[in-house]
Amino acid sequence: MTYRECYETGRSILKVAGVSEADLDARLLLEYICGTDRNELLVHGERRVSEEQEYRYRDIIKKRAKRIPLQYLTGYQEFMGLDFLVNESVLIPRQDTEILVEEVLKNLRDGFSILDMCTGSGCILLSLLRYSNDCTGVGVDLSGEALEVAAQNAERLGIEAQWLNSDLFDQVCGSFEIIVSNPPYIRTDVIAGLEPEVRDHEPLSALDGASDGLSFYRRITADSTAYLKGGGMLFFEIGYDQAEAVRQLMERNGFLDVRVVKDYAGLDRVVFGTKP
Ligand code: GLN
Repeated sequence: MTYRECYETGRSILKVAGVSEADLDARLLLEYICGTDRNELLVHGERRVSEEQEYRYRDIIKKRAKRIPLQYLTGYQEFMGLDFLVNESVLIPRQDTEILVEEVLKNLRDGFSILDMCTGSGCILLSLLRYSNDCTGVGVDLSGEALEVAAQNAERLGIEAQWLNSDLFDQVCGSFEIIVSNPPYIRTDVIAGLEPEVRDHEPLSALDGASDGLSFYRRITADSTAYLKGGGMLFFEIGYDQAEAVRQLMERNGFLDVRVVKDYAGLDRVVFGTKP
């Protein structure tokens, strides 16, 4: 088969399977299998792929048609301009979460110590460390498998960080200028209605925020004050309808100057505040 025939076949299989961006995914997977780029595919549409490439392309398209996320098939997701390894032990870094990183970066000074609670792939912590000077970072997760991914990401990116396997603050020592978290925040009753990619393949433990979605915000907000330095700041990513609840939680726990930041879609996405 030629590049073009592969692409057409892949695209129609993904369309039938209900994949929302069938065209894009068919192309990206072909690029991935053939080690090529968009331009090559366009210019050399009549070039024949090897039998082995055709076989591997059909196989990966079959998996994508089963709604396995593209990023778990290729093993990568770009975030903040950096390439992160991902697998089914970690949530795939979301573009929305770049808003959280950017908000923290605005408040980061040289030499700060940062704690990333529920670090997953490590994408938040590692981006903060890459785009700052002399800061130190600890990434915490309940999942040892997630921390293995985070540690591999740190190594590949050449960034020093410490990884801690802990149920929230249980094993945490020391104090920090910045605590940042994108915790699980989806309400349990909403999970069944999510896209199959998310619902069936991303780690449930990284999504499920219990019956009202706020369980982790409650625990992290209450406990964080013991681990923040005076003047230290707590930053959360939130779901679009959680800003008011999380703001109140933070204010009730003594945080000052609590603010909400919207994402590029105009939805509330980040809440942060300062410990007195
Ligand atoms: N924003 C993610 C989603 O929509 C959820 C991330 C989370 O629970 N922290 O799937």
